[in-house]
Amino acid sequence: MLEQADAVGGRVRTDVIDGFRCDRGFQLISPAYPEARRALDLPALRLQPLPGAVVVASGSGPHVLGDPRRTPAGLLGRALVGDLTAVGGLREKAAFGRWALHSAVRNPAGLLAAPDEPWGEAFDRLGLDAGLRHAVLEPFLAGVLAESDGSTSRRFVELLIRSFVRGRPSVPAGGMQAIGDQLAAALPAGSVRCDVRVDDVGSPAGGAIRQVRTTAGVIGARAVVVATDPTSAAAFTGLPVPRVRPLTTFWHVSAEPPATHGALHLDGDHRGPVVNTVVLSNAAPSYSPDRRALIATTMLGLPSGDPDDPRSEAAVRRQLAQIYGVETSRWELAATHAIPHALTAMDPPLDVHRPVALGDGLFVAGDHRDSASSQGVLVSGRRAADAVLAHLGCAVPPRPALDALAGTRR
Ligand SMILES: Cc1cc2nc3c(=O)[nH]c(=O)nc-3n(C[C@H](O)[C@H](O)[C@H](O)COP(=O)(O)OP(=O)(O)OC[C@H]3O[C@@H](n4cnc5c(N)ncnc54)[C@H](O)[C@@H]3O)c2cc1C
Repeated sequence: MLEQADAVGGRVRTDVIDGFRCDRGFQLISPAYPEARRALDLPALRLQPLPGAVVVASGSGPHVLGDPRRTPAGLLGRALVGDLTAVGGLREKAAFGRWALHSAVRNPAGLLAAPDEPWGEAFDRLGLDAGLRHAVLEPFLAGVLAESDGSTSRRFVELLIRSFVRGRPSVPAGGMQAIGDQLAAALPAGSVRCDVRVDDVGSPAGGAIRQVRTTAGVIGARAVVVATDPTSAAAFTGLPVPRVRPLTTFWHVSAEPPATHGALHLDGDHRGPVVNTVVLSNAAPSYSPDRRALIATTMLGLPSGDPDDPRSEAAVRRQLAQIYGVETSRWELAATHAIPHALTAMDPPLDVHRPVALGDGLFVAGDHRDSASSQGVLVSGRRAADAVLAHLGCAVPPRPALDALAGTRR
């Protein structure tokens, strides 16, 4: 296994800055992801879950929407009673409840078999078309899908909602990096070589050995798995270049936490570039070395250095003051992670079974083969591994076939 970076993890890395764990882009893992349950030792990751509620900040004040089973005690009263009609009407809330329940309980194979369409069109049809959509669903999904135009596959959105309802999205105690570290630690010693870039995977015919050209020399291989980001994978394999979507995470440190809980905050008024923000150290105390608070804030696109630009850190800080209702000018900026290829676009129709065996000993794995999530990428790795074993004439270990985000059987 050859990795061009100084450690494994790819887009799931953590920088420890002054003792604060800043993931390279705020992200969560759901313990309900079927492949995560199988491939990872979840208890060893000591997952720290976010509350099952969101705070919708707006000019009329903060409103709370939550799953009563998972809403922090301090927010529960407002989640159950006070805010029942504040964000969106009852008609729209009932439509949302029906849709979320349908996504959560329906067999994933059924969700994937239904005709696909952009989620924006599906919401129009379902009657999710007023305040709840504008103030809650649009900013929430923007942070998860890295888009705000409603173009992502409805199937993908339903599978994500399913995993959110069935599990508690979390971060490991050691940061998201702990996931890749755990997988790498299980491999035979010496099988992972970091700081080695692959430049060419060779082009043999008729089952010859591939000559893989790397910065550490040429390596002969009977099978090669290209498990890079999708753009590099396209260059190595000739597959089409998929669309990728950028995201930026700002990590701020504050002496005092601006909220008492770790629920995700959304801006119901769309007052700036921020799509979500969370006092992550409230949900995940291991992310801060002391009593100071670590705040993760997500923005679509990439930042601008011009303080007057709507995508600047200064603009983000101003919006954070509106969202949390506190002064933010003294917050320290610990890190900015601007990631041009954060998520592979999941356009309809979603296909979670894209081929991983390309012929002549060339294989491919990654989120672009399944779905843009930790679950999808783990499944793609397993599918590629099984295909390599079959190609080499080795027995494929029997495993219950759970595929993609859905856990569909095939
Ligand atoms: C900001 C952000 C938020 C996200 N939020 C979530 C979330 O909440 N939940 C969720 O499930 N998923 C989330 N994701 C998606 C998830 O992280 C990705 O889908 C997944 O990490 C993709 O893994 P991958 O192995 O396909 O690609 P990558 O993680 O990109 O790994 C590719 C690896 O290939 C290496 N490489 C590339 N070229 C070469 C070369 N020539 N030679 C050697 N090595 C090479 C790279 O260095 C890298 O290590 C998020 C991603 C980001 C960035």
